[in-house]
Amino acid sequence: MAKRKKGKFSNKGFTPTTGAIGEVKALIDDSGMPLRRDLLIEYLHLIQDRYHCLSNDHIAALADILKLAQTEVYEVATFYHHFDVVRDGDRPPELTIRVCDSVSCEMAGSDSLIKALEETCNKESIRIQRVPCVGRCDTAPVAVVGKNPIGKATCDAVMDAANNNSVEAAIPDAITYDRYVKDGGYKTYHAVRDGTLAADDVLKMVEDAGLRGLGGAGFPTARKWHIVRDAPAPRFMALNLDEGEPGTFKDRYYLERDPHRFFEGMLIASVVVGIEAAYIYLRDEYAGIYELLKNELARLKENEGDNLPHIELRRGAGAYICGEESAMIESIEGKRGMPRLRPPFVAQVGLFGRPTLEHNMETLYWIRTILEEKPEFFTQHERNGRTGLRSYSVSGRVVKPGVHCAPAGVTIRELIDEFCGGMLPGHEFYAYFPGGASGGILPASIDNVPLDFDTLQEYDCFIGSAAIIVLSDKDKARVAATNAMRFFAHESCGKCTPCRVGTAKAVTLMEKSKWDTGLMDELSRVMTDASICGLGQAASNPLKCVIKYFPQELK
Ligand code: SF4
Repeated sequence: MAKRKKGKFSNKGFTPTTGAIGEVKALIDDSGMPLRRDLLIEYLHLIQDRYHCLSNDHIAALADILKLAQTEVYEVATFYHHFDVVRDGDRPPELTIRVCDSVSCEMAGSDSLIKALEETCNKESIRIQRVPCVGRCDTAPVAVVGKNPIGKATCDAVMDAANNNSVEAAIPDAITYDRYVKDGGYKTYHAVRDGTLAADDVLKMVEDAGLRGLGGAGFPTARKWHIVRDAPAPRFMALNLDEGEPGTFKDRYYLERDPHRFFEGMLIASVVVGIEAAYIYLRDEYAGIYELLKNELARLKENEGDNLPHIELRRGAGAYICGEESAMIESIEGKRGMPRLRPPFVAQVGLFGRPTLEHNMETLYWIRTILEEKPEFFTQHERNGRTGLRSYSVSGRVVKPGVHCAPAGVTIRELIDEFCGGMLPGHEFYAYFPGGASGGILPASIDNVPLDFDTLQEYDCFIGSAAIIVLSDKDKARVAATNAMRFFAHESCGKCTPCRVGTAKAVTLMEKSKWDTGLMDELSRVMTDASICGLGQAASNPLKCVIKYFPQELK
């Protein structure tokens, strides 16, 4: 490869105007952010927020300021759904209303809502976008007016918000820093930091509690801490608050109520593992939580000062794949969120090439509780031969959808009857997704399996992040499975052919009235065996389940 010549950087392609360079520089200066390559997505957000789109001129200006090739900025900007890259002179309408059309929202009538909104709104000034899950399935159908989420959305409620310019997300009424500290918060962190509570004792308690990664992978937490702790310094931490699996909203639930419990878990892990810097990656759909975390982190930094590791809060930009650990790391580095090939694993070579402890928000949320209330807080709960607690995000046809913290071995029947108030009146239990869109679909007849890690594989399903979507006799498993496949086709990052082409092909086959099950079976085997990451490997689970468990729907 030819070496890059030293000397003054000059960009090929579109020459940015002086005005655009000035505008982008002013935005970055006003934000107080330093000028760094890995902050590229943050700068794109600044431009998108201010101008509602990314023009050629601003992209070229940003490339010039960062001394990057324009293609590097362009490929990142066009990868993420929340950036509107437009030709110069074009502008999207003033306001975007995003309507979720994933499984729970589709069941709750998102199609009619979209149709009604399209007929009602002024297309000059408002555009309606179908979008994948926005993490509020318990209040389906959901529309987001600008950044303002509206649950149980009706056309009138959405248009009222649009007409009244009610476009910002409310900051959740959570436990603030002062109240958290008053109630004993951060004492355990201080004990670990000062050595009163030894790191090895912390590891032992986390292990005894049986805590596993609650983002879906279920890797034992204490073992992960040991692996990263044994790796050479400097070590980093990447916190995954990008829950995007349709049906999942548990992280939002906890963050909206008690964000410092998560921060404290993060700080305890930092001390035990020896972390130099922590990067919190939050999904962009949680705009109110973003403001909350920003404010509360500022309070934490004011009070804990120099004792903290370096902590940065990052915004995702509407790409489901960034929930995959290596894709998230790429995104934090300011690149397209494409999964890396493994090995090496992120625990060895992760963020900025350093050993990285990657965790889902909820995993760390429980650390303080385990240390203060002892591992028995988890282990005392036993059901159907399993121990522990799980936070189930339940949506669909139940009386009380929401996050239900239940014993880990609970069955779907127990969950519906004991925790969700039963089925909605007039609905009979028919089927369920046990682990979000990728976890497969089971019929109501398989209702005695403990909903835990390692219990659903024999049914071609998995629990993942415990997102349970309940279908009734008013629904069809094949319709829900097709919805899930559309989601995966939309969210495939495109890096590998079996997933990129396979998901799109599967949608075409599933939308036909007659299913070619032989061809679909072959296609799903290729996708499962040859895709690089979990998205492509699991995308065909609902399809396989429909063929296996719901043959009556295919007649
Ligand atoms: Fe990207 Fe899909 Fe391949 Fe994963 S499986 S790397 S999402 S194309």
